[in-house]
Amino acid sequence: PARHEDPPPLMPPRLVTVGTVALDTLITTRGSAEEVLGGSASYFSLAAAHSLPVGIIAAIGSDFPVRHLAAFRRRGIATEGILRRMDRTSFRWKGRYSQDLATRETLDVQLGIFEGYSPEVPEGWREAPAVFLANGDPGHQLAVLSQMRRPRLIVCDTMNLWIGNMRKQVEKVFRRVHGVTLNDEEARQFTGEHNLLRAARRIRSLGPAFVIIKKGEHGCLVHDALGATFVPAYPLEDVRDPTGAGDSFAGGLMGFLARSTRLDSRSLRRGVLEGTVWGSFAVESMGPRRLLATSLENFRLRHSILRSMLRNATN
Ligand code: AMP
Repeated sequence: PARHEDPPPLMPPRLVTVGTVALDTLITTRGSAEEVLGGSASYFSLAAAHSLPVGIIAAIGSDFPVRHLAAFRRRGIATEGILRRMDRTSFRWKGRYSQDLATRETLDVQLGIFEGYSPEVPEGWREAPAVFLANGDPGHQLAVLSQMRRPRLIVCDTMNLWIGNMRKQVEKVFRRVHGVTLNDEEARQFTGEHNLLRAARRIRSLGPAFVIIKKGEHGCLVHDALGATFVPAYPLEDVRDPTGAGDSFAGGLMGFLARSTRLDSRSLRRGVLEGTVWGSFAVESMGPRRLLATSLENFRLRHSILRSMLRNATN
């Protein structure tokens, strides 16, 4: 039998995300971590919740530690949309990074929790003005979208597994969103274009007003009606584990956009800068430890350093 967690009531989320809430096992040449909190929706929400109330739609198994749900709630992340399935074990992902942390290989992925799962948006969340379809089954992304009333902003992410196995569904998602974030390899895989400007244009031709192609330590490419802008990553001397950088980036971006009154090219670029800063915290520890410990003050300092770095480049 399935049951929902019963958290103390929080404000209804202004930003709803669907994605994975996972137990990750991470291997790098500098260290590893076993069964730590992971998942696209987790990293996304930990970054976005600094900006506005967020709600997660996901499924977890009977083995998922309650302390992670409590950690979400302490940060203003609503968990009523997280279904605990007592007859299943949680989504697990095991990945190993190359020496330079630029590429990774999935060693194991356990998708059993999603068999027969159909995401349900709590009634009070359906009016939320912003939705982020985090990396996960495109069928679940579409199911959540169909339950939302009239969001003014819908952005999605995806990954090689889904592009490879459920391409048509991924394309259907792309046709229904205002913006897409994905990494360089995935953009090439989806479009067959090696050149990222051409890849971004191809994805935009399906409908999205903007595409952001993430390039790890090399920052990202923003492509919209204004044209292309390359934004660097925040410079760090000590990168530990890239897991969740993309999701935290998206959390910062969506946190900014969901709060801003205008959704234009200028706010998109400002949002990208905030996302870049949140992504930088995610990579500084194995798993989400550093992200969990980051305050708004930490964020503001890095944000101003990044802005002055960019100003210096044009002076
Ligand atoms: P990122 O490094 O931003 O791409 O996100 C990493 C997170 O994605 C990890 O915490 C994993 O638990 C989660 N993940 C790995 N594979 C998948 C998948 N196929 N679908 C959804 N989430 C995944």
